[in-house]
Formats: sequence, structure tokens, C-alpha cells
Amino acid sequence: MKRQQFVVIGLGRFGSNLALELMDLGYEVLGIDRNEELVEEMSDQLTHAVVADATDEEVLKSLGVRNFDCGIVAIGNDIQMSILAAILLKDLGIKTVVAKAISVLHGRALEKLGVDRVIYPERDMGIRVAHQLVTPNLLDY
Ligand code: ATP
Repeated sequence: MKRQQFVVIGLGRFGSNLALELMDLGYEVLGIDRNEELVEEMSDQLTHAVVADATDEEVLKSLGVRNFDCGIVAIGNDIQMSILAAILLKDLGIKTVVAKAISVLHGRALEKLGVDRVIYPERDMGIRVAHQLVTPNLLDY
């Protein structure tokens, strides 16, 4: 069976760690970031890493992004960029689009665009750590 392919947009702390973990799990990962230094750092650790503006539709098309199984928008602080990248991934027809949100309103906007899964990393990690603290034998989840 063909290995699932992921495209990760934004290689900051969240995006780069997600991309590296997917690589460790044996999947193919295309990383995109407009920051040349970040892309250079990641280039020999990902299947492909490209310097590009993820809000440029023609660039995404030329990278064949429509053929990926899952796209992750790992841009948080710049909500405009996050929303534009998410719209483009949805419009290109990627089956599953996941996006990180930095606030509830940001998350609601992403949901309205049809993003399949919205992640709130800080909120989710806070909840997870609280559970781990009061349940020492809890298996990591
Ligand atoms: P993190 O918390 O994951 O470290 P951050 O807070 O440093 O992220 P964000 O604003 O969430 O920064 O952006 C994450 C990454 O997305 C950055 O490396 C940034 O260069 C990249 N990025 C932002 N806008 C675009 C864009 N239009 N095209 C490509 N990459 C982008």
C-alpha cells in the first residue's frame, strides 16, 4: 500500500516537530515555509522541504500539493496567513486539512472554512498535563 503523504505548512516549533514525528513514523512529508533558514535546517530531515509562500496558489499547484493525503496548516500567529493557506488547501481538494488555532475565534473561522480538524496546541497540552499530574499511572494519550 502507498505510504500516506503529508504536507506541513509552517515549520516553526509546532510544524517542525509534527513533520519530524511523521517522518519517524515512516510517512512522506513535504515541509513548506517562507523562512529560508528554517527550510535549510529541515531539508535533510524531511522527504522534501521548500521555501515558498503558502498563500501563493500557483506555487502550491506547482508543488503538486493537491495529491497529498493530508495538509497541516501549522501557522498560528499570523491568522491571515493561516486562513489563506487553509482555504487554498481546501480548494485544492486535499482530503484532510488540519490547522492549528491560537484562539477560539481563530478556530471558529477555520471550522467555517471546512477545515477537518482544528488543533489548539497550548490548550490541549494543558489539559493533557493536568490529567497526567493527577493520574500518575495514566498511559500517555
Ligand atoms: P510555533 O509556535 O510553531 O513556533 P511561531 O509562533 O514561531 O510558530 P507562526 O506565526 O505560528 O510562528 O508561524 C509558523 C511558521 O509558519 C513560521 O516558521 C513562518 O515562517 C511560517 N509561515 C508564516 N506564514 C507563512 C506563509 N505565508 N507561507 C509559508 N510559511 C509561512
